[in-house]
Amino acid sequence: MASLYAMKIEELKGLGKKRAELFHKLGVYSVGQLLNFYPRTYEDWSEITDIADVQDGQTVCVSGELTSGVQSGYTKTGKFIAKVFIADETGVCELVFFNNPYIRTMLKTDVKYRFFGKATRRFSEVQMISPTFSAESDLNIIKPIYNLTAGLPNNVVVKAVRQAVDLLPDEVNDPLPGELREKYGLCGLRFAIENIHFPQSSEALNTAKKRLVIEELLVLNLGLRQLKNRKRSENKNLIKTDFSAEFESLLSFKLTNAQRNAVADCVRDIMNPEVSMNRLVQGDVGSGKTVVAGSLCYTVVKNGGQAAIMAPTEILAEQHYNSFKEILSNTSINIALLTGSVKKSEKEQIRAKLENGEIDLVIGTHALITDKTLFKNLALVVTDEQHRFGVSQRAKLLSKGNNPHLLVMSATPIPRTLGLIIFGDLDISIIDELPPGRQEIETLLIDGLKRQRALGFIRKEVLRGRQAYIVCPLVEEGDSDIELASAEEYAAELMLNYFTDIEVGVLHGKMKPADKEAVMAKFSSGEIKILVATTVIEVGIDVPNATIMMIENAERFGLSQLHQLRGRVGRGSEKSWCILVSDSTTENSSERLKTMCTTRDGFKIADADLKLRGPGDFFGSRQHGLPQLNISSLADTRNLEISQKIADYVIEDSNFLYDDRYRALNAEIKRLFLQTGEETLN
Ligand code: ADP
Ligand code: MG
Repeated sequence: MASLYAMKIEELKGLGKKRAELFHKLGVYSVGQLLNFYPRTYEDWSEITDIADVQDGQTVCVSGELTSGVQSGYTKTGKFIAKVFIADETGVCELVFFNNPYIRTMLKTDVKYRFFGKATRRFSEVQMISPTFSAESDLNIIKPIYNLTAGLPNNVVVKAVRQAVDLLPDEVNDPLPGELREKYGLCGLRFAIENIHFPQSSEALNTAKKRLVIEELLVLNLGLRQLKNRKRSENKNLIKTDFSAEFESLLSFKLTNAQRNAVADCVRDIMNPEVSMNRLVQGDVGSGKTVVAGSLCYTVVKNGGQAAIMAPTEILAEQHYNSFKEILSNTSINIALLTGSVKKSEKEQIRAKLENGEIDLVIGTHALITDKTLFKNLALVVTDEQHRFGVSQRAKLLSKGNNPHLLVMSATPIPRTLGLIIFGDLDISIIDELPPGRQEIETLLIDGLKRQRALGFIRKEVLRGRQAYIVCPLVEEGDSDIELASAEEYAAELMLNYFTDIEVGVLHGKMKPADKEAVMAKFSSGEIKILVATTVIEVGIDVPNATIMMIENAERFGLSQLHQLRGRVGRGSEKSWCILVSDSTTENSSERLKTMCTTRDGFKIADADLKLRGPGDFFGSRQHGLPQLNISSLADTRNLEISQKIADYVIEDSNFLYDDRYRALNAEIKRLFLQTGEETLN
């Protein structure tokens, strides 16, 4: 394909200088670039609608023949207008074209065409204005639609691309060698290019897309690794023995395969003498990330190192502390909790013991990163729910050891974490499996009028022994007095009017830590039945007996945040419910909330969030310097992970920079990075 990059777009038939300039506007100068100029979208011409079934305003594809010749004339304003009737077995449709005198010669009688476009219906009269059409005999069932610029219609681009594709030799120089494609089930480049532009079927399109996406992410991955390899820090905390099996024997359950794989990835990292671990473990809410971290801490401590887990809230830190204390109760491991609300004298004691090495594992909040906290030999840092921390906070904790290993845990592919994948050189493990026996969570969307019924339902469930969370209405951020008043007022109102005989607790961010803890402890033990809370319960809380989550003003939350909230239920053996309350009627918010009702897959939800709210929310302004991606997306975590595996394979397979089989792949890396003015690789 290299020579096609040298071939100018003007050299294609039918493209004069003027048209070529329009292509330049779109960033396409060479035939090679044209091949990489993928369609913006596709029109599916395979689904035919009977004329009798056409609805007003619908975009349809109808199949028919002309019933008469083309009538033409001029409108009052002097526009050329052509009209013609077509028919299928079910009805007649009028077509109207403006400013196209060629219609008379383009549309012939006795030829079957498909017409695609928006239709209108007034009673029995169906009309389409300026539909696109194609004879049945030379039809692409799925038609490519390109990004266009004024003066450059889609069919001109289609013809140019057709020529370009036909110039490709049968055997193209594929950046992905055959053995690699076979190993990962990816199609060849020739097929991919042909089908991304002119799909033979929707399956062929998917196959093509997948390969091109993975290739692009692979190229990105390999390129970034080359740039960053110099920066990886040496493993100064080499772990010799793997104790993960021993840790598993301390648990009351078996790890899922996905958890085991994640643990194995981590163990491999910390036993790698060359560089220290930098790994992100990503898994949906409830997938069991905590024990993965626990297992790694165990191995590190048994090898003589210290480990620290940093959680974003005191509640979460305490919960981790309690569960680890239980798991490790019959071992000699010393474990401590260090949060802001631990008594001063106790804090001092814990800090002294961290410094002299008496404490092996510490779990805490930001209190861990104050200057006063010092470690004897901190070998592993774990941050839970990473998106809650700034990069600098993480760096601060890391600086307390000598190149300690880093394990980052996150439930959603959220912006900063993604930034870290790219900038922070994190490897990724994905836990894509929930522990067995998880119950369904039924998600319902209701409006305020049904609130009363929902509260009645909660009442019934509580009387059956279950517990519930109610997330109270959001108030503007920053006004802490209002937040406090609103949560407490809201709870008071519920207690007075609905739950007079039921124990209700309140939890919000402005409470004193000790009070928060007391409320959480009562909710955990089942004394409090209904917990009215702000989003402080969003991350990590684990109370399996809680089976209902009701969220007020649901439209005000991001989908990923709703997903996190919902993840607080469905943790036990009982069926659970999530009730979203919203009076918003905008299309965008109802579409978003409906997504919540139909899927529980965090990756799908993150994708939907990205689509509906746009990438701005996800990437902030930090994307400079990264090459422009053509077909893939950094939010596509799954393919990102696959590409990372392939990158590992390529690097292990050979010194690929100098290996002939990977010459074309290297050329792609250079091309992707040169376009940003990024420093030249190798
Ligand atoms: P998250 O990934 O959201 O942090 P947690 O680590 O809090 O999830 O785990 C959720 C719950 O699932 C906890 O109660 C934990 O004890 C339980 N759990 C984790 N792994 C398993 C497993 N393999 N089998 C059964 N239960 C598990
Ligand atoms: Mg968690």
